[in-house]
Amino acid sequence: MNVRVGARTDVGRVRQGNEDNYLSSMPLFGVADGMGGHLAGEVASETAIEAIRAAAAGDDAPTADRLREYVGEANSAVWAKAQDDPDLRGMGTTCTLLSLDGTQVHLAHVGDSRAYIFRKGELAQLTEDHTLVERMVQEGRLKPEEAQHHPQRSIITRALGVDASVEVDVQTQAVRPGDRLLLCSDGLSSMIEEGAIGETLGSDLDPQAVADRLVDLANEAGGEDNITVVVLDVVDEHAKDALRAGADSSPGRDADELAEPGGARRRSKRGWFVGIAFLTLAALAVGAYRYAVTNVLWFVGVEGDAVTIFHGFPEDVGFLSYREPAERTDLEVDELPEFVRQDVIEGHKVDSLADAHEYVENLEARAGEFASPAPEPSPEPTS
Ligand code: MG
Repeated sequence: MNVRVGARTDVGRVRQGNEDNYLSSMPLFGVADGMGGHLAGEVASETAIEAIRAAAAGDDAPTADRLREYVGEANSAVWAKAQDDPDLRGMGTTCTLLSLDGTQVHLAHVGDSRAYIFRKGELAQLTEDHTLVERMVQEGRLKPEEAQHHPQRSIITRALGVDASVEVDVQTQAVRPGDRLLLCSDGLSSMIEEGAIGETLGSDLDPQAVADRLVDLANEAGGEDNITVVVLDVVDEHAKDALRAGADSSPGRDADELAEPGGARRRSKRGWFVGIAFLTLAALAVGAYRYAVTNVLWFVGVEGDAVTIFHGFPEDVGFLSYREPAERTDLEVDELPEFVRQDVIEGHKVDSLADAHEYVENLEARAGEFASPAPEPSPEPTS
């Protein structure tokens, strides 16, 4: 098999920078959605993609196991970089990686970027989101349609670069001419309904036009996040000009497997549901921890009487708390003017250590301005 490819990444309509990255280099394709303060998310996704590119150089047909290794290497690269630079600490990235290998594709996946297959007019999600809301859906506590708009939908339970090692999901799917595959960041899947994704993939547009259309739709729906899509049309290797519409007739395939591309996933989900039910609380704890490490990195709060910079997050998520004092300042909470004191007592969240320093400097200035009129500095009495 061969593929024809369309890809696009877009900052969206709300974010300042684009923390997504993608890879489109036959036979390897991928999407990474970074997170972390300031530029850290961008660094994380770029580091991951570059590490994968380097690890896979010269590999003409990466197997599922090789994909797992590549994602592992990407994890190590992001983790190492985050350890070296305090401004990058806690950064992470999703990664959904696909390789074409003859009549099948392999997928490796961590986080909430997705892979879909569109076949014979039907869309099926191949990857399972590593998110809190997906867990809640599996546990029957949330309907799938509620998950898409859930306020905590972006809390992911697995990411690259937030730990020295990471668990990677891999799978292999048979493909045939006429299949259309989609890799996307959550900036697409959280903004438009799957019906609209399926409709667009079902159009006669070429892969690049489909990629462009999907990005446009996400932007029209608000563009609240960075949007990245990679669209792959599976074509017969020997029919260079094969059209999607005419490439739908290779004989000897398993009809059931073709009719229900998501069947394997649904079956395995059911099994997992039973297995994981009693681990719900542990899962929530892991989710909360990942949330802390990947979503909220720093805050300025109080320890004892001292204004202190913390790593972590001020409030408890579920029953779990994660906060570590990082730097104690000379400022005492009583010195703060009333209107900022409460903010600090509750914990003022910032995106990076640098921002925390800036905020503390601000507090110091405010403390000076609003201090009860200090006695005019008088010359030291000399006697
Ligand atoms: Mg995103």
